[in-house]
Amino acid sequence: KSGFVAIVGRPNVGKSTFMNHVIGEKIAIMSDKPQTTRNKISGVLTEKDAQVIFIDTPGIHKPKHKLGDYMVNVAENTLNEVDAVMFMINAEEGYGRGDQFILDRLERVDKPVFLVINKIDQVHPDQLLPLIDQYREKFEFEEIVPISALEGNNVKHLLQVVKGHL
Ligand code: GDP
Ligand code: MG
Repeated sequence: KSGFVAIVGRPNVGKSTFMNHVIGEKIAIMSDKPQTTRNKISGVLTEKDAQVIFIDTPGIHKPKHKLGDYMVNVAENTLNEVDAVMFMINAEEGYGRGDQFILDRLERVDKPVFLVINKIDQVHPDQLLPLIDQYREKFEFEEIVPISALEGNNVKHLLQVVKGHL
């Protein structure tokens, strides 16, 4: 099994951290600053049963200037080329307009979309269900997986879920 998986989400939700954790190398540039990774940066995960090529897609959020427009276009083209999409959110933050901008674009993409709730190390488990309900109202996700990209919690499970859809 092999396939391409795009990672989308608001700035600072942990996309680069996830990539680094999974690939095990500093391929994606990590920063607290939004928009540090401007291009499609991919990391390849090769395992016995599967090869997954991840594409960090930082540019897909409401553009504030012309370069931002260009980046949204790059990101949207990426979404049409992949086999599945990981939509990552920060468990500490609720649903917001930044998410809706991305979900509106994902509505036009006919690929499985996984809701990845990151930074669960920062919240009480009781906070997860209301958060999940909130997002389920907005979009029909193929699967919903809570993780901590920083500590690695549940990342193996997420990879199993992703591989199951390739
Ligand atoms: P990106 O903009 O989506 O690529 O986000 P980054 O990967 O650059 O992460 C933004 C910040 O969140 C960094 O300071 C990371 O260390 C932090 N971060 C990422 N994942 C986690 C996590 O699972 N738990 C916690 N506590 N912090 C995280
Ligand atoms: Mg990043």
